[in-house]
Amino acid sequence: MAGQTEFSGFPPVRVDLTGLVENPGESHAVSGRVEADSYRVGEKEYRLTDGVSYDVVFTNAGDGVLVSGMVRAHAEGECDRCLEPASFEVAGEIQEYYLFAEPDDPDAYEDDFEVLGQDRVIDLADSIHDAVVMDTPFVVLCQPDCKGLCPTCGANLNLGDCGCSSHQVEEHAASDDNPFAKLRDLKLDN
Ligand SMILES: [Zn+2]
Ligand SMILES: [Zn+2]
Repeated sequence: MAGQTEFSGFPPVRVDLTGLVENPGESHAVSGRVEADSYRVGEKEYRLTDGVSYDVVFTNAGDGVLVSGMVRAHAEGECDRCLEPASFEVAGEIQEYYLFAEPDDPDAYEDDFEVLGQDRVIDLADSIHDAVVMDTPFVVLCQPDCKGLCPTCGANLNLGDCGCSSHQVEEHAASDDNPFAKLRDLKLDN
């Protein structure tokens, strides 16, 4: 039954480490592309024009596998100021730790970790997704100096001056709460 489907993440990116990184210091590199076409950050949705490419290295660090790498993507969305299309490059970092076995003392580990399953398969989907989200600018702009929309008439100020701001300055100057308006009314006859 088709209902409201919430976009929850990327398709699985399973890496099978069976027979790999068995000894401390050994590493295994994996590269690829996640065929995801969008992601969300809060209320905002961004399109991915060419999925997300990733370069990840799995390293046996003694008691677990260190997963470190980079993700890259080209994302498109909406300018937060003028609502016109805006795009940006994502270059995020992945850093995860998978212990070989459940630790006796979980508090001994300062950083977050997961436990590697019996099948020695790691799904990178969430790590890649989180890295993309983390590298998404808090404010997305069509251009660094986007002028945004006029708060009065809604015109896109990048396309030219709508005339409202000069209007506002005049009105403001004439209003009573403007100190210069009072100065203007001062009678200087002593
Ligand atoms: Zn803009
Ligand atoms: Zn205006």
